[in-house]
Amino acid sequence: MAGLSPGGGLPPVRPDLTELVGYHSAQVDVDVRLNTNESPMPPPAAWQRALVDAVARVDFHRYPDRTATDLRRALADSHGVGVDQVFCANGSNEVLQCLLLAYGGPGRRVALFEPTYTLHGHIARITGTEVAAGPRRDDFALDLDVVADVVAAADPVLTFVCSPNNPTGRADPPDELATVAALVPGLLVVDEAYGQFAPSSALELRAADPGGTRHVVVVRTFSKTWSMAGARLGYLVADPEVVAACELVALPYHLDAVTQLAGRLALDYADEMNARVAAIAEERGRIAAAFATLPVETWPSDANFLLFRPQTKEAGAVWADLVSAGVLVRDCSTWPGLTGCLRVTVGLPEENDRFLAALTESLR
Ligand code: PMP
Repeated sequence: MAGLSPGGGLPPVRPDLTELVGYHSAQVDVDVRLNTNESPMPPPAAWQRALVDAVARVDFHRYPDRTATDLRRALADSHGVGVDQVFCANGSNEVLQCLLLAYGGPGRRVALFEPTYTLHGHIARITGTEVAAGPRRDDFALDLDVVADVVAAADPVLTFVCSPNNPTGRADPPDELATVAALVPGLLVVDEAYGQFAPSSALELRAADPGGTRHVVVVRTFSKTWSMAGARLGYLVADPEVVAACELVALPYHLDAVTQLAGRLALDYADEMNARVAAIAEERGRIAAAFATLPVETWPSDANFLLFRPQTKEAGAVWADLVSAGVLVRDCSTWPGLTGCLRVTVGLPEENDRFLAALTESLR
């Protein structure tokens, strides 16, 4: 590389990366952590026992199954699709990264609609892909005219829609997603990290019209509803050609044997998972009802978190009051389109009580 002398100094990082700010959620040591949309409950004890038993039989001196076939088959069966339509990786972030490595890169563009999950744009930029961003409406719904304009101008290879959208909470209705699918060139990537909390899924769109939705990719994670953020497992359901493209760029043996087992065994506990989703949705309703009695603006949520905007005090000051009371929420107030907003993850009932008491005190 020009300008570097042998044996001396460190090379500069790629100049296009220096403007990127790393993705961080401020971590503070508090009792009640409601800032990263994890499940407040650990996985079922029976799952943990089954995993420990299975791990005892892993041949750790051998590489794991490179194709993760057992896990992919179990996932494929759970969604009624073929095993060749499922790709798994270390968290859905790695799934997104593989899509961008396979389809993005210099001279290519992605489209997205803000406010939305910041990692879509962030990973795109890391892979040298240009980002064309349009705004969502004031109520955070997709503006279909804006979508049409942005994709017509940018000709994106990938268009990202997060539904339910992080951090705003709303799921895009199926008819709107179908309209977006008909508008976009390239792939439509629907990030359903919170999909199990929502009334509908783009998987239904794919199932209803397999020919017309070959370009629709649905991304999911085990980090939220499956209570497995610590295991790092995400996947996509897509056309076999998209799966093959992701396999082309994923590192060999990227998905370790324990993670593959953890995911496959988790699928045996779908009933417990559904019960947790119902319990969290109930608590979400309780928080929303409490918000209605407080000076905060808030929006309907189809996910395990709620976005809110304090009306009588600056968001940063409320965030600090909550931390002082031992409660950590996400400060989104500097994100595009989210001035003054905070996001709270739905926790256990007692954690939500602590949050609501601290918020009430802060806004008194
Ligand atoms: N997509 C969205 C919308 C998310 O909110 C998150 C987690 N914050 C992810 C993807 C990534 O999740 P993971 O890598 O843990 O699967």
